[in-house]
Amino acid sequence: MQYSDIDLGFNQSMVSKGSLDVVKKLQRAGYDGYLVGGCVRDLILGTAPKDFDVTTNATPEEVKAIFHRGRIIGRRFKIVHVRYGREIVEISTYRAAPGKPKKNWFGLRKKTSDSQRVLDDNVYGTLDEDVVRRDFTVNALYYNPVEESVLDFVEGISDAGSGILRMIGSVPVRFGEDPVHMLRVVRFKAKLSLTLVDEVEHEIRPNVVLLGEVPPARLFDEVLKLFHHAHGVRSWEELKKYSILDLLFPLTMKSFDIETEVDYEKLVLDALGNTDRRINQGKPVIPAFLFAALLWAPFKREYEAIISSGSPLGEAMWSAGDRVFEIQNRTVSVPRRVSGPAIEIWSMQNRLVQRRPRTIDRLLENRRFRAAYDFLLLRAQCGEVDTEVAQWWTDIQECDSDGRRAMIDGLRDGFSKSSRRAKSKNGVASDPGANSTRRKRPRNRRSKKSVGKQ
Ligand code: ATP
Ligand code: MG
Repeated sequence: MQYSDIDLGFNQSMVSKGSLDVVKKLQRAGYDGYLVGGCVRDLILGTAPKDFDVTTNATPEEVKAIFHRGRIIGRRFKIVHVRYGREIVEISTYRAAPGKPKKNWFGLRKKTSDSQRVLDDNVYGTLDEDVVRRDFTVNALYYNPVEESVLDFVEGISDAGSGILRMIGSVPVRFGEDPVHMLRVVRFKAKLSLTLVDEVEHEIRPNVVLLGEVPPARLFDEVLKLFHHAHGVRSWEELKKYSILDLLFPLTMKSFDIETEVDYEKLVLDALGNTDRRINQGKPVIPAFLFAALLWAPFKREYEAIISSGSPLGEAMWSAGDRVFEIQNRTVSVPRRVSGPAIEIWSMQNRLVQRRPRTIDRLLENRRFRAAYDFLLLRAQCGEVDTEVAQWWTDIQECDSDGRRAMIDGLRDGFSKSSRRAKSKNGVASDPGANSTRRKRPRNRRSKKSVGKQ
């Protein structure tokens, strides 16, 4: 159904300059050009879109011929990126519906796994086919900003108006083709407060296990979309409700079952809350901090186990970190550029707690200081570290150089006393590295290089 006189609650002026230019140029060259997906959905729902996606009947090569600055990218499906200053407009060619045995551009049949998961998506289609391969009705609206009209074949406008998330096609079939749909359901629910239609609601739990078939690297990208877009706390709660966390973060969830004085789930939720707040304030966030929080409790257990088995202290930190990430990577694989800095954040904790006077300046200059300090605050919030210690680090950052010297001198006087107190509060066994002041990553590790790139 084409609507040209409907009030969508937004108009051309709310569309990014880059995507408007792309649509105009595609149409001028005789092709279709529509805005589609999350941007149309978000504009109707009154949320600022994070990006504007364009779809067309032109192939990536034909698109590239119009936009000389465009870059063809993508493995699962080729798309074109065109840059306008800081904006990148993504242009995708209409795709054929999944599951349909059909030839792609190379004359090959589409491949599916035993459970019908689509492995090769590189098949172009018509607009009609493109509609049915999209996931949700609210994501399948085609907006033509030139005419200010919208194509709606699946009653997406009505669903958006009612705040409903409805899948296109059979829910179990779609979850089987691509289990990531389930994570997208959670994300849209958390981000947009949409209500799930019953069929979607009831089909998630029985199908969660299928997420185990998704490549762990793809799940890492999805996890970041869940936790690094200002709706992390709500995403966590939804993932928990559908028992998805056990599959994504098995070590973390198991560690919550072990009785301890510290509420480690609170630590994770506080980290997600901090991250949401920082994103809303336009401040930078790093995935390493998030994973440091998610895996802190399993890391501590692993560290303690390694120490008690008599391993050298200097190695224990990195061995424990590597081991925890090795297990985590079987489900959601965390790239070394993220896990390396996460281990660095962990490895600084004890030095921050101990506050040895001669280490203070070096700690303050450490490139991970800010993240490690924020992590210390999280631990203090959960009662794992003295609030006095956390406050000391807050204060020293606000001092001028004379004030800083005075604070460090103050430590020298009371060092042995405060160090004893820190040890008794945080406990040698429970605080990684409490027995050793300087913990350096062993030199001969392959990953050292990628850590250094941060
Ligand atoms: P966001 O606001 O997070 O960008 P989005 O819906 O735009 O949400 P994208 O990943 O940018 O998400 O995808 C753009 C559009 O492509 C979606 O709205 C949907 O129509 C379609 N799409 C994305 N991923 C899938 C998928 N796995 N299966 C089917 N359609 C998909
Ligand atoms: Mg999008």
